[in-house]
Amino acid sequence: MHRFEPCLNFIGGRWCEPKTGQYGDNVNPANGEVLGVWARSGADDLDDAVRAAREAQAAWRLVPAPERAKVLRRVADLLRDRKDEIARTLTMEMGKVIEEARGEVQEAIDMADYMAGEGRRLFGQTTPSELPDKFAMSVRAPVGVVGIITPWNFPIAIASWKSLPAIVAGNAVVWKPAEETPLTARAFAEVYQEAGLPAGVLNVVFGDGPVVGEAMLSHPGIDVISFTGSTETGRHIASRAGANLKRVSLEMGGKNAITVLADADLDLAVDAIVWSAYGTSGQRCTAASRVIVEREVEEALLARLLPRVQALRVGDGLDPAVHVGPVIHEEALAKIDRYVRIGVDEGARLMTGGRRLTEGTLAQGYYYAPTVFAGVRPDMRIAQEEIFGPVLCVMAVDSFEEAIRVNNGVKYGLSASIFTRDVNRVFRAMRDLDTGIVYVNAGTTGAEIHLPFGGTKATGNGHRDSGQAALDVFTEWKTVYVDYSGRLQRAQIDNN
Ligand code: NDP
Repeated sequence: MHRFEPCLNFIGGRWCEPKTGQYGDNVNPANGEVLGVWARSGADDLDDAVRAAREAQAAWRLVPAPERAKVLRRVADLLRDRKDEIARTLTMEMGKVIEEARGEVQEAIDMADYMAGEGRRLFGQTTPSELPDKFAMSVRAPVGVVGIITPWNFPIAIASWKSLPAIVAGNAVVWKPAEETPLTARAFAEVYQEAGLPAGVLNVVFGDGPVVGEAMLSHPGIDVISFTGSTETGRHIASRAGANLKRVSLEMGGKNAITVLADADLDLAVDAIVWSAYGTSGQRCTAASRVIVEREVEEALLARLLPRVQALRVGDGLDPAVHVGPVIHEEALAKIDRYVRIGVDEGARLMTGGRRLTEGTLAQGYYYAPTVFAGVRPDMRIAQEEIFGPVLCVMAVDSFEEAIRVNNGVKYGLSASIFTRDVNRVFRAMRDLDTGIVYVNAGTTGAEIHLPFGGTKATGNGHRDSGQAALDVFTEWKTVYVDYSGRLQRAQIDNN
């Protein structure tokens, strides 16, 4: 007997068994308990969802945007009502500590409030025409049906960044959530349903990425793919969906660094490092996995940092006294441990952690000790590759310029942070750090939803989630000219 009902697909406003008749297990990473099962769908289920979405979109695009926004406002209210319950579910299925899970649900609430406001904006441009008695403007039009593919580490926040702007702009959505977090996805779909979103405007198809996700990439009924996940999967998606001329928005991996200059407030820097490196067990795309420190304060920084890391309490995220929850599954644990061995072999100094935790009840879950390496060189694999776990690499540099070079010397470009009191260096860093997000005297995490979110280089392909920028992914610009002169007027010819 499972604790939760099976997670069924949500297609055309109805909860449907998968046509495959197959289900997958939803496992709590804190203790190995099977919480329930989710529909392991096939391409036929996706077809049904796309058909429902296309039908629904034909009517939804004609609903005035302020009316569409009313649904989003109710989504925000319902999420507020269910905040604690959804946060608990989220912690149970992916492991982050309950305080962070509540923060994540809040992010979805904020996004719903913000995008509801967009229903009364969706601004276009009105410009003068170069010809008399002629009117010129551009308006945002929905693209059609949006395919959303999301990861498990922010199962409701990322889904909210993508689905809410898509829906307020008049699109319909087909969403494939990560297989590790079906309950959170189901709860979000229930909220949309209860908020009065017309049937078919949001559809959820659970399933394996290489089956349902893959089928989305070539489905002729899907116009846009919005993806967040690993760079490897993103690259595959870009090539497959690109070949079918779909618009593709990708948010992928990171290797984010916190730079600490010699004049920094070291205590503040350590607070930020601990929060950024070990929050969500280091499984945030914005997690700090590198610290770049000016050599003259390296020892002082480590002296403050190590006891703080060693004091972190690791355990089940539902326990409010726990600071660091489990990692997502056995493969993640094995990958983290493999990277730690690589670091040791490369000659980095393991200062603390570096092992799986199996004491007492921890043996039933997937726990890794918060880990710090010092003496890391920028060319080491542990300093270059995304580990996606509670592992931090400390690197000493001799100047501000070298710090910027080391920060930028990785293939990713999501988030960077710098601690200094020197205003000139702050502005140089703002200009020269090559990431999509820069923090000054704050860690690498903590994005706010009304600003663009995303990265450069191998982190993204130029689009942004969140903020008004998110609308660019889900709308087409339609440019409209109205000539009320009653005669043929030729631009660039009759007026020159
Ligand atoms: P994955 O890339 O493995 O999975 C992401 C999603 O893609 C899942 O829903 C997965 O399905 C699906 N998928 C897998 N294969 C395919 C395929 N062939 N076609 C279509 N979809 C597919 O990433 P993780 O879930 O492991 O998430 C962790 C990664 O996400 C990290 O690299 C992290 O940095 C990145 N990330 C980036 C963020 C950003 O904004 N830049 C934010 C959060 C995470 P399935 O259910 O089978 O796994």
